[in-house]
Amino acid sequence: MIVVMKPGSTSQQVDHVVQLVKEMGLKDHVIVGTERTVVACVGDDRAKDIGRLEQSGGVDRVVPILASYKMASSEVKKDRTVIPLGGTLGGAVGGTKIPVMAGPCSVESKQQILEVAHAVKEAGAVALRGGAFKPRTSPYSFQGLAEEGLKYLAEAREQTGLAIVTEVMSIDQIPAVVEYADVLQIGARNMQNFNLLAKIGLTRKPVLLKRGMSATLEEFLLAAEYILAGGNTQVMLCERGIRTFETDYVRNTLPLAIVPELHKRSHLPVVVDPSHGTGKSHLVPDMCRASVACGADALILEVHDDPEHAMTDGAQSMNFKQFAEMMKSIKRIAAAVDREV
Ligand code: PEP
Ligand code: MN
Repeated sequence: MIVVMKPGSTSQQVDHVVQLVKEMGLKDHVIVGTERTVVACVGDDRAKDIGRLEQSGGVDRVVPILASYKMASSEVKKDRTVIPLGGTLGGAVGGTKIPVMAGPCSVESKQQILEVAHAVKEAGAVALRGGAFKPRTSPYSFQGLAEEGLKYLAEAREQTGLAIVTEVMSIDQIPAVVEYADVLQIGARNMQNFNLLAKIGLTRKPVLLKRGMSATLEEFLLAAEYILAGGNTQVMLCERGIRTFETDYVRNTLPLAIVPELHKRSHLPVVVDPSHGTGKSHLVPDMCRASVACGADALILEVHDDPEHAMTDGAQSMNFKQFAEMMKSIKRIAAAVDREV
């Protein structure tokens, strides 16, 4: 349930409500909005006596949260969440501006990541993506450069100011990734790794949570809820395509209707990944434009200096020229929907 405070209620009144919530054995999350403060109470609130809360000073009303996900729900927070990305270029996800995060699927070498970083920055990206720990379907495929890759990413940030987005696959990798990265990516295959999600919830770094390839919208939001429930409020929802019966012309099917639907149900920003969402680089620019048109708050894209020889995901990676052209074209689409790139 949420306790909606009256406009102008005092901090003492909010503190008192928090105290009552704790006494009820529930977890409190105070959300200060532009007009009023609400106290979200999470936990099993069936059979709790809400009368005491309703009578408490400064309280306007107490209302149940109907959605199964609570902290992620727009019932709890009407203002959209805006998440600064880090780095020194000032990108944030969830505002009018649509930041673009771009880079190779995997960090392959120091020279490669630096070259890609400079190129994507030049074209207008504000964050650099690149996996140092790679979730690979086969144990014999390239598994990533691990900590060495994280160091190269940090050097790329040093040289360009780009924020660093990189995947954390397991609990034991959290300290290293937190040390080097600005945004922690949770991959599609880990969307329901609940132990990992709970531990990520205890960090205070922005999180890019990718939708599992067969996850429903409800499961996606409940995965976000695990992170939010730990106290980490900076979660971006990333649609990266789902598995369907189609295996030929696309690798995954990109269901863009989820963008407005997530915006309706949640205050969290929505990122689209047309690279994994299609698996084919020639489809990516059109899907970038479509994503911006339907309300995406950011894009994450795979860009490689030499896609033909990429160690991972070459077929869906744009080269520098394709990326730069795509960036120009989304500016026009953004303007048409009152946004900016
Ligand atoms: C990636 O971003 O390279 C990646 C592995 O993505 P996903 O988890 O969406 O497959
Ligand atoms: Mn990839």
